[in-house]
Amino acid sequence: MGKVVWDIARKADNLWVKWIHDKYIRTNDLSTFAAPQGDNWVVKAICRTKEKLIRFYGVSWMYNQKYSIAAIYQKLMDFGVKVNWCQAIWNHQNVPKHRFVCWLAMKDRLQTSYRLAHIGVCENNSCLLCDSGMDDGKHLFFECCYSEQCINKIKRWLGINAVTNNLHQMLEWVNIRYKGGKFRKKVVIASLMVVVYKIWQERNNVLWNQYVHTIDKVVNDIKSDVKQRVQFRVPRRLGEEDRQWLYSL
Ligand SMILES: [Zn+2]
Repeated sequence: MGKVVWDIARKADNLWVKWIHDKYIRTNDLSTFAAPQGDNWVVKAICRTKEKLIRFYGVSWMYNQKYSIAAIYQKLMDFGVKVNWCQAIWNHQNVPKHRFVCWLAMKDRLQTSYRLAHIGVCENNSCLLCDSGMDDGKHLFFECCYSEQCINKIKRWLGINAVTNNLHQMLEWVNIRYKGGKFRKKVVIASLMVVVYKIWQERNNVLWNQYVHTIDKVVNDIKSDVKQRVQFRVPRRLGEEDRQWLYSL
């Protein structure tokens, strides 16, 4: 349909376009033309498509010399947006279940009470870990005092002093600004995945089993999981400095 609108806008030399102009658009400019009530459904569809494309591209696209269906489709489907945290999460260094929960957390798709309350499934949407915030992704990672303390202890353990307020910022900081080299970066990201997973697990513990582990216990479990995973997959050609760093954790 976009191609049809483009043909109409540039007054392509074909009978159907001429008919649309003569019968409906007449002397109007297509960019401002609106199908009157009761007009042909095709004309209404043309107007809807035109409005949609103008929202994405502005008016100028209608007068481009070339029309690319692939480019328009890509733009409309938002395929062009590269998510820079995606590669970091789906790295084989990370445990699959950690990757999955972290990916859901990054997309804000975890079934928090806030989301469930929004669709009328539950009424109480208070944070299950601290009871002073909302049980949503924003609070849980890492505004909540429980998760904040966990992440701060893990940051100290890894020698990170970045000031970040949420999971997105944290992952972005590691991805872009962390200077520890490729191997250490992978360990830091793997640790972050485990933190997210464990916090989600603790939150579910409260929900289903009515108990929560102490912060120290959770932090020790996180450290243990990270070391176990990373030491199991140590690259053969790991430099001595990185090896020392790893075994000092
Ligand atoms: Zn909380």
